[in-house]
Amino acid sequence: MNFPLPPPPFTAPLAACALDDLAWDNGFSRLPPHFYTRQPATPLADPYLVGFSPAAAALIGLDPAQAQRPEFVAAFAGNRPLPGADPLAAVYSGHQFGVYVPQLGDGRALLLGGVAGADGRVWELQLKGCGKTPYSRMGDGRAVLRSSIREFLCSEAMHGLGIPTTRALAVVGADEPVFRETVETAAVVTRMAPSFVRFGSFEFFFWKDHANEHQGDLRMLADYVIDAFFPVCREAKQPYLALLAEVARRTARLIAQWQGVGFCHGVMNSDNMSILGLTIDYGPFQFIDGFSAAHVCNHSDENGRYAYHMQPQIGEWNLYCLGQALIPLIEDVEATQAALETYKDEFAQAMDELFHAKLGLATSEPGDDDLVERLIVLLDRNRTDWTIFWRALSRLRVDASAQRDDAPVRDLFVDRAAFDAWAGDYRARLKREKSIDAERAARMNRVNPKYVLRNHLAEIAIRKARGDDGARDFGEVERLLACLQRPFDEQPGFESYAARPPEWAGGLHLSCSS
Ligand code: AMP
Ligand code: MG
Repeated sequence: MNFPLPPPPFTAPLAACALDDLAWDNGFSRLPPHFYTRQPATPLADPYLVGFSPAAAALIGLDPAQAQRPEFVAAFAGNRPLPGADPLAAVYSGHQFGVYVPQLGDGRALLLGGVAGADGRVWELQLKGCGKTPYSRMGDGRAVLRSSIREFLCSEAMHGLGIPTTRALAVVGADEPVFRETVETAAVVTRMAPSFVRFGSFEFFFWKDHANEHQGDLRMLADYVIDAFFPVCREAKQPYLALLAEVARRTARLIAQWQGVGFCHGVMNSDNMSILGLTIDYGPFQFIDGFSAAHVCNHSDENGRYAYHMQPQIGEWNLYCLGQALIPLIEDVEATQAALETYKDEFAQAMDELFHAKLGLATSEPGDDDLVERLIVLLDRNRTDWTIFWRALSRLRVDASAQRDDAPVRDLFVDRAAFDAWAGDYRARLKREKSIDAERAARMNRVNPKYVLRNHLAEIAIRKARGDDGARDFGEVERLLACLQRPFDEQPGFESYAARPPEWAGGLHLSCSS
C-alpha cells in the first residue's frame, strides 16, 4: 500500500505575502484544552535577526523581503503576536535514556499554529526558546544562540540532503544572558513542520488513560493524526494498526538515511521521535568526521546509548514505546508486534538500497552485503573521514592500471593493503555489471554529499555570530546555509567546507545543555 501525503486543499500558488497576511489554519489547537496550555511568548529585549531561510519562507508563501522588517524580528522573537496565530505549549511525555518520564512537554517552545503553504499544505510554525511554560520543569524556557544556530542550519541542511526533517524559518538573537556551563545569550529558532506530534505525545495519553484521568484522549490524538496526516490509514481494516506500521516504515527509512550520511542524532529519546518520521529536536547532533561505528556525539550520554551504531536498534526500541501506547486502541498484542516487525524489514531494505546507491551499484548480487560490511569495518579501523571517503570513491576507475590511480581514495586509509584488497573486490564487482566510470560517478555524487554540517563549520559560524573576535557577523551563517542547501553540488570556492576538521575541532564537546 502506498501512503501519499494528504491532497492539498487547493493548488493555486499564493502570491508572496506579508507577515500579517499569512493564511493561518490551526488544526492542533482544535484538540481539547488539556492537550496543551495556551499562552503568549515571553518577550526578549532588542532582538536581532541572525539567520533566515528564504526556502523555508517560500513553503508558507511568505515574501522573503519581510525578513528585513523589524516586525519580522519582533514576531519571531515572540515579542509581537501574529494575527491569526494561537500560541500554545503542547504536553507530552516520553522515555529519556530508557526511563519513562511521566510529563515533559514544550518546556521552551510554543506552537504558533498552522499556515497554509504555497502548495496548500499546512506548515505548523513553532518558536523554540521563547520562555517558560507549565512544562518547563527546572528549565528557564530559553535556548542559547549556539544551539539555535546549530538547529537552524542543520534543519535546512538535512532537507538539502533529502532527509525528512523539521524545517527552520529563522533564528533571532538577543543579549539576554542565559546560564549554561558558561553565560551565553538567548535566541529563538522558528521551526516548521506539518506536525510536531511525537511518540511521547501518545505515551503521555496512554499512561494518563491508564490512570483513568482522561479516558478517550489517546483515541482522540490518534484520530487527529490519522485524519490530518495518514488519511490512507483510515481506509485500512484497523486504522491504528496501519498507523503504527506506517510510522515504523517511515522511522526505518529515516534512520537508514541518517546512517548513510553518518549523522548521529545524539538524544534519541522517545519524545524526540516525530510521528511523521521527521528528524526533530536538534541538540548535540553530529555528522561523523573520522568514522567510528561506536561514535557517541553527546557528552552527557555516558553509556553510549545513542552511539551511531545503536541508532537503528534505538529506533526500534522507541517504536515499541509507541506500539505499547497504541495497544488500547489496537486491542491486539500479536498484531501490534507484527506491525512493529515492519521496522526491521523496512530498515534492512532501505539500507540495502542506500548502500547500493552509495557504492554506485546498479544491480544486486549475493555478496554485496559482505562487501558493504567489510568496507564499514575498514572505515572504522582507519578512522577514515566518512563524507570525504564516499565522495572520493566515485573517482575510482574500473580499469586502473597502477595503485597511484586509486590515490584520491586509497590515501584516506592508513592500512593501504587492506584498502587494496577491498578495492580489488569492489572493482571486480563493478566489472561484472559493466559499470561505466562517468555514469557511475554522476550517480554516486547525487547520493554521497560533498558538504555536511560538520561541527567545526557550525562552530565557526557561531563564534562569528557571537562576535567572539569583535563585532557580530552573521555572514557565515548565511554562507553556510547557502552551501548546505546544495550539498551534492561541487560549488567552486567552497572546497574548504568539504575538508577534514582542523585540529582544534577535536576539543569541541556537545552536551544536552542547550
Ligand atoms: P530536549 O532534550 O531538548 O528534547 O528536551 C527535553 C525536555 O526538556 C523537553 O520537555 C524540553 O521542552 C525541556 N527543556 C529542555 N531545555 C529546557 C529549558 N531550557 N527550559 C525549559 N524546558 C526545557
Ligand atoms: Mg525534545
